[in-house]
Amino acid sequence: MPAAWDVLSDADFILMKTDTLKIVVFCDFDGTVTCRDSCDDFFRRFGEFDIHYACLAAGQINVAEYYRRVCASLPEDLSNESVEQFATDCEVDAYFGEFVRFCRDKSLPLIVVSDGFDRYIYPILRQIGEKVEVKCNILNGSQPVFPGASESCQCFCASCKRNVLLGISDDTLTVYIGDGLSDICAVEYADVVFAKGVLAAHCNKHKIPHHPFRTFADVLHILRKHFENKTIRRRRQAELKRLAAFEAE
Ligand SMILES: [Mg+2]
Ligand SMILES: [Zn+2]
Repeated sequence: MPAAWDVLSDADFILMKTDTLKIVVFCDFDGTVTCRDSCDDFFRRFGEFDIHYACLAAGQINVAEYYRRVCASLPEDLSNESVEQFATDCEVDAYFGEFVRFCRDKSLPLIVVSDGFDRYIYPILRQIGEKVEVKCNILNGSQPVFPGASESCQCFCASCKRNVLLGISDDTLTVYIGDGLSDICAVEYADVVFAKGVLAAHCNKHKIPHHPFRTFADVLHILRKHFENKTIRRRRQAELKRLAAFEAE
């Protein structure tokens, strides 16, 4: 698969050595770990998805307000058994488990950053049988809580993923893997980007160098090559963006 960044010159990248470098991997959940958008599917199954999502899609409400409305439409007696059944029905990328083990073998911290909810994310992850750190929204009964909400970012999400990346120290290389609108604010600050779907289209449009991927098999293939060659290329633009974000705070 051709990497979209091959069209850029070497001046756009800084070559780093993988054996001395600290690397942190960030990964989206809905549509990236899972094959479909599990957040939409969760509300489709248990709440009134269509009517509230239509307001969001029409730009009448923002993501936080959409979540408030669609969470309020969930039944009060939504049982853990129903959510477990939902988790069983969700299809997960067949190579994600292998990817989690790869990160552990290479001592790369892996953090799932999601604008979805703990209520279904943990049951799905339990099915994979791997422990993964997760930063996501919390469903408190039928009320959403957004621990990662940000006022300084105009992103299409309730919890901002950009701020999670900005919390990483500068001597650490960040890898970001995602597929959707909620990943857009984060990828500009990530050193190495893997993108599919809407996110890949956004990266192409805005000339953000990225590796297109279909499944975690592609991600594994590329990262393994970097570790074999002992080098990885850091995006110079990401470094400049991070600096600018700190100066603006
Ligand atoms: Mg997604
Ligand atoms: Zn943001």
